[in-house]
Amino acid sequence: MLTGVLGHPVAHSRSPAIQNAAFRAAGLDWRYVKLPVAPELFGETVRALPASGYRGANVTIPHKLAALELSDTASEAARAIGAANTLTFDDEGGIAADNTDAGGLLDALVQPVDGLRAVVLGAGGAARAAVWALVQEGAGTVTIWNRTRERGEAVARELGAASAKRPPACDLLVNATSVGLEPGTSESEALAALALEGSDPPAIVVDLVYRADGATTPVAAWGARGGAAVVDGLEILVRQGARSFSLWTGLEAPVEAMRAAARDA
Ligand code: NAP
Repeated sequence: MLTGVLGHPVAHSRSPAIQNAAFRAAGLDWRYVKLPVAPELFGETVRALPASGYRGANVTIPHKLAALELSDTASEAARAIGAANTLTFDDEGGIAADNTDAGGLLDALVQPVDGLRAVVLGAGGAARAAVWALVQEGAGTVTIWNRTRERGEAVARELGAASAKRPPACDLLVNATSVGLEPGTSESEALAALALEGSDPPAIVVDLVYRADGATTPVAAWGARGGAAVVDGLEILVRQGARSFSLWTGLEAPVEAMRAAARDA
């Protein structure tokens, strides 16, 4: 069977290395390929995939909303978050949409979040998935901070979270902005951009950002230096990929093999 990642661009994606390692570890003769596709061709490309031997696909920027809209069925997570990152095709060509970014975040945390004071930085697609996951999972409080305050307030209202002018004290902080993605962003620049200058990190820091060159991101470095348990963007990528693998194959994902491939890629 075939699977792949639909994006524009997708050249940088580590998902082929991660998923192909998973198929090998599971003893499956499956392949995962890069599917670069421009927005205007997204719909017709996806509809052609089931008859071309594809079982499913991941979806990345800028197609996550379009993927949800063209699906025949969608999970509660995909509908509430308003974006799909995983499509699964049935034998009749039906398209099911899911969002594994939310569950992937919870899997990466390993420990339960119930009762924790959580702060999510950002109000884009990644932040929406994180907020929805933490609210669903019973975090004590979930507060959004976003550079553009009205955007953060709107997401908070929609998903049942709070919003704040500055990130409040918390137990768990999730960076779901793109701050730190650019090589050369210093820790102090990143902390200033996120209204965190002068703050100590909380017990758990999650940075969804990962760098193409594998370098440590400023927010992860800040967390590690302050003694936080740090979950980095590659671990989140592996965990959302593990959930996609299970949706397509019906098997438990070989997470260790996927993690090793992500770090080597
Ligand atoms: P997005 O929809 O474009 O949202 C970007 C967010 O970052 C917005 O909240 C934006 O604030 C904020 N932002 C951008 N530049 C900023 C700056 N200089 N200072 C402060 N805030 C800034 O992006 P997304 O899809 O949510 O993705 C966010 C990040 O998560 C990306 O780096 C992406 O690679 C990463 N991600 C990782 C995974 C994973 O598996 N590890 C999965 C999904 C996403 P405004 O609203 O003010 O513009």
